[in-house]
Amino acid sequence: MLYDRILVRFGDLTLKGKNQISFIRKLYNLLEEKMYGLNVTIDKKHDHVFIILNDCDADEVIERLNLVSGVHSYSLVVKVNRDIEELKQKALEYLQEIVTSPLTFKVETKRADKNFPFGSLETSKIVSGYLLKNLNTLKVDVHNPNLTLKIEIRTEGIFLYTSQIRGMGGYPVGIAGKGLLMLSGGIDSPVAGYLAMKQGIEIECVHFESTPLTSIESAQKVIDLVKKIAKYAPKNRILVHMVPFKELHMALLDNIPESYNITIMRRMMYRIATKLAEKNNDLVLINGESVGQVASQTLQSMNTINSVTSIPVIRPLCTYDKEDIIKISRKIDCFDISIKPFEDCCTVYVPKAPATAPRIYKAEAYEKNFDYEKMVDDCVNNTNSIWISKDSDIDLAMYGLEVREVLKELNK
Ligand code: ATP
Ligand code: MG
Repeated sequence: MLYDRILVRFGDLTLKGKNQISFIRKLYNLLEEKMYGLNVTIDKKHDHVFIILNDCDADEVIERLNLVSGVHSYSLVVKVNRDIEELKQKALEYLQEIVTSPLTFKVETKRADKNFPFGSLETSKIVSGYLLKNLNTLKVDVHNPNLTLKIEIRTEGIFLYTSQIRGMGGYPVGIAGKGLLMLSGGIDSPVAGYLAMKQGIEIECVHFESTPLTSIESAQKVIDLVKKIAKYAPKNRILVHMVPFKELHMALLDNIPESYNITIMRRMMYRIATKLAEKNNDLVLINGESVGQVASQTLQSMNTINSVTSIPVIRPLCTYDKEDIIKISRKIDCFDISIKPFEDCCTVYVPKAPATAPRIYKAEAYEKNFDYEKMVDDCVNNTNSIWISKDSDIDLAMYGLEVREVLKELNK
């Protein structure tokens, strides 16, 4: 293949001043992290980057590039010296290699280096004329061509490419600060975490685990999901706070009327998550709620649940429908894990008729049935936090212990 490099274009550079500088710096860092261990050279320019492949496999580099938020698009490019004869020749070799059947084409030239002796239009004409003469499978169509050969003339050389592939988009993860993702083992919350990272938010995760009321596999699912989304995180790892929720969960089942069980359970989760966020400098909570999906996600429910916290709650999926969520879930390789049939704390003892319009005053009244504040604090204080990286090989069941004991072991 003639390609020797990938041209990487940055995302939203409508950002100004300092924000733009930190955007670019973060993106450089992320690119370096994701390419770690590969023999590529990262050639940093002001508003783009060249990844010079050296002897690396382009597919492998692209796979990693697709994990970098803030990348707008990229192209595999051929570099040519700033010489019109060489340009004609290399353009021909390039098209000979990629054109296998008759098609229409046009040439588009961008001349960033005004010292190049030929203008943009003139260069396009010279090159397309040469191609037409030497490749009889080609026909010109300037309005609706099958293929556009792009030529970019820069001071450091001339670059040729034919396609521009969309990158992950968004902002470099971390640029917006840090948030705490409420991660269940379901389909939605990992997708919410991915979208938050794509928007520049570095995430930590909190999971409320009620083992042995729920199965150990439901906690394992969470770890396996974090491994999948850790690929997008800085340094390929995410800190997970595992909250031992069983006691509080049982107290809810004992003390709260069935119809308010989920509402109050979720208020407890928000209370604990808020305290953990404050402790860990997470500026927002993030979750996978989507309006209307289940009883706890009606607008009235959201009000009653949300009223226990004063920090912002970001719901990236709030207007998505399930089909769109599943599409992303598959793309980030979480779907097969998410659909494994292990119950979590929200699916154990699901009330037959959960309140769909729960009221704050009623929730507060029911909460007086037991001393939840101490239990909330215990949950926070007994939380075990572990780093999960994309290559972690934690197998909770292997230890033959309760999840919280395994986590303690791992933290030793
Ligand atoms: P998901 O598919 O993410 O489980 P869901 O549609 O099943 O979402 P719920 O079970 O009502 O919806 O949960 C809504 C959100 O609350 C989840 O997306 C997640 O952010 C959070 N959540 C629910 N259960 C837990 C848990 N055990 N630990 C942490 N967060 C949770
Ligand atoms: Mg769920």
